[in-house]
Amino acid sequence: MKIVETKKAAREIIRKWKRRGLRIGLVPTMGYFHEGHLSLMDKCHELADKVAVSLFVNPAQFAPNEDLSSYPRDRERDLALADRHNVDLVFIPGDKEMYAPGHKTWVTVEGLTSEMCGRSRPTHFCGVATVVTKLFNIITPDVAVFGEKDFQQLQVIRRMTHDLDMPVEIVGHPIVREPDGLAMSSRNSYLSKEERRSALCLSQALDLAEHLVKQQGIRNCSDLRQALAEKIEAFPFAGIDYIFTGDPETLESQDTINNKLLVALAVFVGATRLIDNRVITLEADTK
Ligand code: AMP
Repeated sequence: MKIVETKKAAREIIRKWKRRGLRIGLVPTMGYFHEGHLSLMDKCHELADKVAVSLFVNPAQFAPNEDLSSYPRDRERDLALADRHNVDLVFIPGDKEMYAPGHKTWVTVEGLTSEMCGRSRPTHFCGVATVVTKLFNIITPDVAVFGEKDFQQLQVIRRMTHDLDMPVEIVGHPIVREPDGLAMSSRNSYLSKEERRSALCLSQALDLAEHLVKQQGIRNCSDLRQALAEKIEAFPFAGIDYIFTGDPETLESQDTINNKLLVALAVFVGATRLIDNRVITLEADTK
């Protein structure tokens, strides 16, 4: 496995691979790997000849009051795990390598970023779209794999690559969960023992949403959100950031449920902000 810290070194390796006609896959990450990240690397191997992983805690996607400085990091463990998953190249740049002094260019995706995390983190997706654009320009992947855990991010990247004619295929991969249902996240490491128990409010609320829609026949989104809010608020330490119900493609909120509904949640468990989501598909749509 090759480990490089500069764009120049990454480009040299990629150029050699491309000359051999190899298909390049990229998995962008912020590190502190868990099974979710590793599943993306495994998926990427199915889609490409060479798998590159970027490991960069992107300052541009954190607001000043967020957890950039405390974001968990463990470079050696991450490299060992990537190696075990047969990653071919790890690109692990420093902040200055990615954002040289005088950086003035930002990528904005409109519309899709106005609700959900875009509402509570207004600068977040501009930081994400910019860094992903840079990573695509450096690694020039044929395919890039993103987790459905960050559902809005996945749709923003799909939109961006389509709108800007970026020659890369975007593949989404299902959420990997702990045995009790908690979606894996690097930020789960912030949780105390008691908070960890309360963190189940997200997956359990999504289970409830599915039950209410499929078994109880709820079709009114406001009623659904109310039921989910009550469920979440029954857990200690839980504070709702948002409960979103809407269209999984356009990310526009919906009043009534048609064929497919995205239910997306952001909840503070203590000081830790966790997200989770599920797309609920009604029977009629699967026929
Ligand atoms: P991060 O390091 O949190 O920026 O995540 C890097 C990539 O891993 C993103 O595409 C995430 O959506 C994906 N990811 C994070 N957690 C999970 C998970 N539990 N299951 C699947 N993919 C995930």
